[in-house]
Amino acid sequence: MEKVRVRFAPSPTGPLHIGGARSALFNYLFARRFGGQFIVRVEDTDLERSSRASEADILDALEWLGITWDEGVRVGGPHAPYRQTERLASYQQAAAELVAKGWAYRCYCSEAELEKEREACIAQGLDPRYGGRCRELTPAAEAAFQAAGRRPVIRFKVPDEGNVVVDDLVRGEVAFDCAGIGDFVIVKSDGIPTYNFAVVMDDVSMGITHVIRGEEHLSNTPRQLLIYEALSLPKPRFAHVSLILGKDRSKMSKRHGATAVAQYRSKGYLPEALVNFLALLGWSPGDEEEVFSLAQLSERFSLDRVAKNPAVFDLDKLNWLNGVYIRQAAPERIAELAAPFLVQAGYLQEPLDAGARAKVALIAAAVQEKIEYVAQVTDYAPLFFGEKVAFASEAEKAVLAGEQVPAVLAAFVRQVDRAEELSPAGVKSLLKAVTKETKQKGGRVFMPIRVALTGQQHGPDLQYLIPALGRELVFARVKNAAEQVGIEL
Ligand code: GLU
Repeated sequence: MEKVRVRFAPSPTGPLHIGGARSALFNYLFARRFGGQFIVRVEDTDLERSSRASEADILDALEWLGITWDEGVRVGGPHAPYRQTERLASYQQAAAELVAKGWAYRCYCSEAELEKEREACIAQGLDPRYGGRCRELTPAAEAAFQAAGRRPVIRFKVPDEGNVVVDDLVRGEVAFDCAGIGDFVIVKSDGIPTYNFAVVMDDVSMGITHVIRGEEHLSNTPRQLLIYEALSLPKPRFAHVSLILGKDRSKMSKRHGATAVAQYRSKGYLPEALVNFLALLGWSPGDEEEVFSLAQLSERFSLDRVAKNPAVFDLDKLNWLNGVYIRQAAPERIAELAAPFLVQAGYLQEPLDAGARAKVALIAAAVQEKIEYVAQVTDYAPLFFGEKVAFASEAEKAVLAGEQVPAVLAAFVRQVDRAEELSPAGVKSLLKAVTKETKQKGGRVFMPIRVALTGQQHGPDLQYLIPALGRELVFARVKNAAEQVGIEL
């Protein structure tokens, strides 16, 4: 196979969405798998909707996901510039060539005229398309339009008959009837090329071998193929990846939850989990395995395992995967991600002093087993802050009614008082000492202590909970719980 060169070509008209991230990822993986190159360039010819802020959001999100590129915006390369608005001269030349060869022509129709034509088509039950009124303008007619101040667009002359066949690596051969296409605009009246034209010129000049993109572009591909043929340009292979649907099988949208990568980032999803999840949106490894690092995916990805049918976005699955990665992560990393959520929810104040940082580390260690994304740390935060104990139900109070409980709590308080340091290891031996001293079995010791500290029968490991609370809160909570159920310590 020739050296693979693939690209991701976002339009910077909004943040990076899940679908775009998946396209970028598939291109990245394809390049890595076949020792090729991955290019990121920006399609910013929609001047009104494009912004540098969106471009930065998209590139930042790619970087966060670990999807790096060999050439393109930010990193440069032999085909710079990588923004279409900075490459305008190259399109003008090709457009002139198409006009000279009779493949394209200047069209002077006004918006109002085109609108009228559209309405007429619809009224006759036809698909709206340009009827070709300016196809054969005489020089005199053109001069008259120009004298009247009309500025032309350039349209591509689509053959009246025949088919254009897209030979797609995912979908097989898909035929499009030329009669349904209509002469399309390749250069707008302000001289800016349209997507279908600029994308071809960029793909050619950057030596792109495979165009891997979303299915929503499949209907653009015949237009692009016509341009390749008209200019006798070498064509890349195409692979159109299925749409992403919500669980209700309608196109994924905001209704189904967050659609922007940055939203997942800000909720405390880990990039490696999102990458793993995105890879499985349309691609399957062919076995039961589901947890893959970017490096593993780079070794296994291939287009023949990309499904034709739509992928369904399953948030429960993403949450499950993210939980897997959270548990694998270094506790310090989870602590660092957790701190801003605790600050935002008002549990801690910036700047965090050493004590607060140590507390966050212990909270993170305690909840790492429980949470699916880091923002959920605040669901557990009440367990770690405040002196009062709220019993979850009467059942918890009943736990404290056990006859061994006063002795257990008294021994516990004594041991905590005596302990040199409340570290996870220290807590383990301290609890053992309470068991020994009270001659009770584990559960009859640990459960009352847990309930006295949290008001609940389930929750994070005492090993982390107790150090995270610290001596003062441990005393205050045991006292508060004991008072509420009438135990005298
Ligand atoms: N700018 C297009 C988009 O963002 C890219 C289409 C393509 O990859 O050719 O959808």
